[in-house]
Amino acid sequence: MDTIRIHPGHLIDGTGQPARHDWAVLIEGETIVAVGPDAGVPRPAHARHIDVPDGTALPGLIDAHVHLVLPRSHGSMLDEMQALSDDELVVLGAASAERFVRAGVTTVFDCGARGDTAFRIRDAVNKGLVLGPRTLVSGRPVTRTGGHCWWWGGEADGVEAVRAAVVKLLDEEGADGIKMMATGGYMTTTTNPAESAYPREVFEAAVEETHRRGRYITAHAHGVEGMRLASEAGIDCLQHASMIGPERNWQFNEEVARGMASRGTRAAMTMAQGIRVAREKGEVVDWRGAKRGDPLTAAMWMADARALADAGVELVVGTDMTSVVDTDHGEETILEIEAFVEIGFTPLQAIRAATSLAAANLKIDGITGTLAPGRSADILVVGGQPHRDIHDLRNGRAVLRAGRSVLPTPLQPPPLRLSPVD
Ligand SMILES: [Zn+2]
Repeated sequence: MDTIRIHPGHLIDGTGQPARHDWAVLIEGETIVAVGPDAGVPRPAHARHIDVPDGTALPGLIDAHVHLVLPRSHGSMLDEMQALSDDELVVLGAASAERFVRAGVTTVFDCGARGDTAFRIRDAVNKGLVLGPRTLVSGRPVTRTGGHCWWWGGEADGVEAVRAAVVKLLDEEGADGIKMMATGGYMTTTTNPAESAYPREVFEAAVEETHRRGRYITAHAHGVEGMRLASEAGIDCLQHASMIGPERNWQFNEEVARGMASRGTRAAMTMAQGIRVAREKGEVVDWRGAKRGDPLTAAMWMADARALADAGVELVVGTDMTSVVDTDHGEETILEIEAFVEIGFTPLQAIRAATSLAAANLKIDGITGTLAPGRSADILVVGGQPHRDIHDLRNGRAVLRAGRSVLPTPLQPPPLRLSPVD
């Protein structure tokens, strides 16, 4: 069993507490056994030391919305996926998993994949066959016939069929959680993102079966009505949460937002892709200038995130990392965290949304998400002080995934330097 002692210049525990100076972490095997002021943390003679006096240690990052097995497309992502066999998708997903963990993302929730491909990647990671983050999978998202991403094979209609689909995924196939499509989506062009895909009782049946098993259930939701019904039914977290009205433009609904806040429905905003695409085209993303009635743009999406947070909704980091060209998987997670800071979160709040809060959202806060004794040794060490400058998350110096040391990938700078907090 390896013993590792990390002594960084600063330590962020992930709970939102201020960074500590001159603290240390001791790891035995897969588990953190001590965290505290350096002088009080044991120094076993056989320990391997990671001393980074100009760096900061923090919990490994968590991305609540990834797709390990969608190709990084330069054209039609769907066509490219359909041209690949399940075996090829598994190889692709294994490569994606490695990219995430080398960027410091030590846990991901896979929000949808064809057949059993995501399960096979998770199991390969768990067996140590490939390097990857702790991988939680939803398998095939539950969607109505012809609904968003129906081509992944998860179609089910009505209370009883949806209940049966959820039970099969969780009990027979070993899904870690459930993903539902509460509205149409842009990628499935025959669906309507503004419309709710199901009545409330269907969401309620899915929530009942999932929560009965202590598991996590999330829903893709663009339209206001689908967001409202999914939240009222007790879905744990909404993906995208973009608050579009019947005309597919931004119609932020205060009442729905406050309802989400009071029920504890979280949101994963998936802002990074739009921001990257806009900036690569040279566009200015002016989220402060976004207003109701605007079409769905990166600026509007960021304004939506800000408005949800102002209404009291807890936001967690999730990227929907799929097909973005010329970026790397974990880098997208860091871009999402940077976007939180751009809309006014402090760096520590943004890091919390990718660590302790993200773990609580996925119901794995007893396992990971904080630097504390008993937690899995999922740790990112970066150069600099990300609690002062969030971009320092890109300066990976060391990554531990359940105590296993992984060489970090040097990441690119952000597509355009985001403005500092004001
Ligand atoms: Zn997605």
